[in-house]
Parts: sequence; structure tokens; C-alpha cells
Amino acid sequence: MYDIIILGSGPAGLTAALYAARANKKTMVLGGDQLGGQMATIHSLENYPGTPGINGLDLAKVMQKQAETFGAEVVFASAKTIVHGDSYKVIADNGSEYESKTIIIATGAKPRRLEVKGIREFTGKGVSYCATCDGFFYSGRDVVVIGGGNSALNDALYLSDIAKSVKILYRKDSFARGEAVLVNRAEKAANMSFLFNTEIVEIGGGESGVEYVVTANKERIDCDGVFIAIGHEANTDYLAESVKRDDMGRLDPSKLPIGMFVCGDVQSGLKMQVATAVGAGCDAAMDCIAYINQHG
Ligand code: NAP
Repeated sequence: MYDIIILGSGPAGLTAALYAARANKKTMVLGGDQLGGQMATIHSLENYPGTPGINGLDLAKVMQKQAETFGAEVVFASAKTIVHGDSYKVIADNGSEYESKTIIIATGAKPRRLEVKGIREFTGKGVSYCATCDGFFYSGRDVVVIGGGNSALNDALYLSDIAKSVKILYRKDSFARGEAVLVNRAEKAANMSFLFNTEIVEIGGGESGVEYVVTANKERIDCDGVFIAIGHEANTDYLAESVKRDDMGRLDPSKLPIGMFVCGDVQSGLKMQVATAVGAGCDAAMDCIAYINQHG
């Protein structure tokens, strides 16, 4: 029986693991398929204090090692179901079952999917949801980025160092959501352009992959790759329907079953930043430790 099982190995989960293990609680991280969550896809982290420009996966490795130093176990598998009785039983996709007095949910969020004609056919053949994973394949080519938030701006800036040209297609008339520093950089990038008030309705191409997108105004834009960055949805599908979620699938800490805690991008109302995830991981672990100390 564990004292604390933490679901997720992003910055929130690994911070919670460090605090839990350092408080001498028997702690396991069920880390999903791979270490680091969304942070692992960040090429260079500029806004996490103390480690300017660190690679996201490298930071996750340091965080994992730090938690393990204090005795946390890290297992790479995902929760399929959680059964809540006197304790919590986590049934994982590796066939194992784990029992714990408490659970910390830190399973993060995944990119929201775009539903337009052609997208299924070309996903993985020119359509990508991860610029840092797939950008490399577009060296010297023409790409479009769909979206208008910080993720779209970050992806476009990353791609502008690799691709010949980057066009951001955004349905509103300005980057009101974007951080000024990112907007300024995008405006200065010589190979970047913006098409505002533009929605795409179709992605088309041939045997070798994407060749163009079509906008709602029936304009055809030729391109070799389409990168989609239109927001995120929380990873909470494995939880019982009785656990309340908001419209993004996120969890309100005050509405969870007893002994269950939440932190990181899966927590409603929290800004999706590595720095806030780390703070929330610390917070959830300290609440969880206090709960165990009180209830045994
Ligand atoms: P976001 O801020 O929610 O932005 C999503 C963007 O996609 C919006 O511009 C939205 O348009 C657009 N969109 C949504 N559905 C669409 C659809 N069906 N078709 C076309 N466009 C669609 O999401 P995000 O950029 O992934 O960021 C999530 C959070 O992470 C934010 O809090 C952000 O600040 C944070 N983040 C921060 C950084 C950083 O610090 N540098 C980097 C990445 C993310 P509308 O504006 O019209 O709704």
C-alpha cells in the first residue's frame, strides 16, 4: 500500500513526488507513456526561473532524479481506471494494480484536435500537433500554423528557424491572447506572415502528403505542413463520471473525492505554465501529506 500515488510525470507530478517522498511518504509516480508530459516537448524553456533556455525533457530528467533521491518510485504506465473504496486502487495499462491511501492527479492536458475536411487523412502526413517533435522535417519548406494563442506563437517562432516560410492563420483580427514578447518576436521574423480573420475548412494534398489548405473564404494556400495549436483539453478520461470536470475536462480541487488532490494543467483555473505547475504540485503534495498525517 502506497501513501501517495501521483498520476503524471510532468512538472506538477514530479514536484508533488519530491515533496511527498521527502516527507517520508511511500510514493509512486505513475508517469504515463513518457517522462515530462507537455514540458518534454519544449525545446528551450525561457520563462522558468533559474534555468534559462533549458530543454524541457532535460529538466524533467533532473526533476525525476531529485524525487527518486528521496525514495519516490517512477513507473511508466497510464491509469485506466481508479476504484475508490477505503483506499484507492489504480488499474494501469501495464496490467498492474496499485493501492494507495491517496491520489494526486497530475495528468496534464493534450492538444485540442481540429475537425476539418482532410485532417484525418493527413495527420502524420503533413499535419502535426507538435512543432518541436516534427518541425525538423520541414527544413526549407513552407508551413502554416493554425491558432492564435501562446502555443501557436511559440510553435511559429520555433518553425521560423527551420522552415522557408511560416504563415499563422488565426480566426480573430489580432493576437490579443498572446504574450507581448512572443508577438513582438513573431512580427520581427523575416520569414513569418499572419493571416487574420482566417479559418481553414479543408486540408488537401496527394500521395506525398499535405499540399494546401482552403480557407472559409475559399482561398487556397499552398504549403507542405500544417501545425495545429488551438488549445488544450485535460486528460481525465480514466476518472469516474461522478468526478466533476469543467468544460475543458479540468478538475476543481474543492470538488474532489476525499483523499484525491489535483495539480498542474489538469487543475481548473490554473494558468498553464511550468512555473505554476511546479507551485501547484508543491501545494497538492503538502495538502495530501497533511491529510495523511491527520487521517492515518
Ligand atoms: P489558448 O490560449 O486557449 O489558445 C487557443 C487558440 O486556438 C486561440 O487563439 C483560439 O482562438 C484558437 N482556436 C481554438 N479552437 C479553434 C478552432 N476550432 N479553430 C481555429 N482556432 C481555434 O491555448 P494555448 O495557446 O494552447 O495555450 C494554453 C495555455 O498555455 C495558455 O494559458 C497559454 O498562455 C499557456 N502557454 C504559455 C506559453 C508561454 O508561456 N510562452 C506557451 C504555450 C502555452 P480564439 O482566440 O478565437 O478563441
